[in-house]
Amino acid sequence: MTSWTYSRELPVSEPVDVLVAGAGPAGIAAAVAAARRGARTTLVERFGFLGGNLTAGLVGPCMTSYSLDGSRQLIRGVFEEFVQRMEALGGAIHPSKTQAGDPYAGFITYGHDKVTPFEPETAKSVAMEMCLDAGVTLLLHTFIADVISEDGRVNGVVCASKSGLHVQPAQIFVDCTADGDVAARGGADTVFGREGDGLVQPMTVFFRISDVDDERVEQYVRSHPDDIRPFASIVEKARAQGRFPAPRRGVGMYKTLRSGVWRINTTRVLGRDGTNAQDLTSAEIEGRRQVDELMRFFRENLPGFERCELLDTASTVGVRETRRVVGDYVLSLEDLQEGRHFDDVIALCAYPVDIHDPAGAGGGVDDSFGTANYYEIPYRCLLPSEVENLLVAGRCVSATHEALAAIRVMPPSFAMGEAAGTAAALACADNLTLRQLPVPDLQHALVDQGGYLGEVLRP
Ligand SMILES: Cc1cc2nc3c(=O)[nH]c(=O)nc-3n(C[C@H](O)[C@H](O)[C@H](O)COP(=O)(O)OP(=O)(O)OC[C@H]3O[C@@H](n4cnc5c(N)ncnc54)[C@H](O)[C@@H]3O)c2cc1C
Repeated sequence: MTSWTYSRELPVSEPVDVLVAGAGPAGIAAAVAAARRGARTTLVERFGFLGGNLTAGLVGPCMTSYSLDGSRQLIRGVFEEFVQRMEALGGAIHPSKTQAGDPYAGFITYGHDKVTPFEPETAKSVAMEMCLDAGVTLLLHTFIADVISEDGRVNGVVCASKSGLHVQPAQIFVDCTADGDVAARGGADTVFGREGDGLVQPMTVFFRISDVDDERVEQYVRSHPDDIRPFASIVEKARAQGRFPAPRRGVGMYKTLRSGVWRINTTRVLGRDGTNAQDLTSAEIEGRRQVDELMRFFRENLPGFERCELLDTASTVGVRETRRVVGDYVLSLEDLQEGRHFDDVIALCAYPVDIHDPAGAGGGVDDSFGTANYYEIPYRCLLPSEVENLLVAGRCVSATHEALAAIRVMPPSFAMGEAAGTAAALACADNLTLRQLPVPDLQHALVDQGGYLGEVLRP
């Protein structure tokens, strides 16, 4: 590719204390937490609504926020408030009321106790109201295209929108773009994909279908306990005959709050880079073609789906994995297996390793990795090693491919975002760098806000 150099003077907005990039689960929690602690906080999001995969990706349910044995709620704080506010509007079921193996959990048992089913429209509205109530300034329809940094500090992000380009300076930046866009452009070290071959988990276009015969589906699935995923034997037979349109071994399907409506997590697009616009374009094309073909397949082959209709497709293909920022600590599979304690713990989680095969039809959550009943995420995973005034939270944090495959789901992303936003606000208030911030102050603040960091730091 050839290159052109061009220069232009850009308008610079009033500096803020905390700039949160990306309004998915991590960004929502980061912005709410920072603003509630008094930081002047701006949340920049490329879409016209909040939620990231919660909404634009049609992803759901929220995976477990409890320990693996289902006995203890680990992820509370902003996530718990978000769920309660959605539930009060009739748009969610609290995780304490769902159980492993039920239709809300996609009939999956391992790692699927106490998921949170929710309506994406309720999520949009509650996320927006929580941000506005907290005093967050929203900047929607705005893409962060570049970063201005110097000597290991980010000075400002370059925002592109209908208004043109402008620079937004801040004291502290929180990268919740899932792809580490700010960190990568701001000079942080990043790694991409699986160690060794760089392959990433496949992408998926989620869709919802209506007019499903819930009872018939449940009856069929319950009477075929040997299927590793719903309808696996029908799918396997069709795959052998070249009639199944996606590289999958079964149907990923989750009952929603509305009767006859299910979320379908079954398309699979392999070998694409979610930080490359051409790859994203071809993934949208392939994923959407699979949706149409799956609809036909479902109607013709799956008991209970004979009269089903396509309700909607996600606004964007769902990207499971791209860059991971290299931080002061890299969370590993062994940390998750041993439930290793970190003095700078900022979140407890339990969702197991869930790797969709980067090269084929296999993978998904199972017990083969043997993760502990719960494990810890340390503050250092949020601190990119090369940049001083930047935190990362959500899917782009510092972890190995395997560890990320567990902590990437939405409740841990909320928890990491809340920790990052709280750290940013505390550091701003006391004029400290993020590494000077006393970690016990951060931990106590998280617990005061309703978080849970284990028995030692019990409220
Ligand atoms: C197909 C699929 C299925 C999944 N299934 C589940 C599931 O069932 N349950 C579960 O709990 N988790 C699931 N996950 C995982 C989960 O959805 C994500 O890992 C989680 O949403 C990560 O949260 P996040 O806030 O880091 O990122 P995201 O949710 O991706 O949010 C990132 C936000 O940043 C914005 N953004 C990105 N770049 C820029 C930029 N440069 N400028 C401005 N804005 C930007 C995006 O528009 C988006 O709003 C699934 C993921 C995928 C892809």
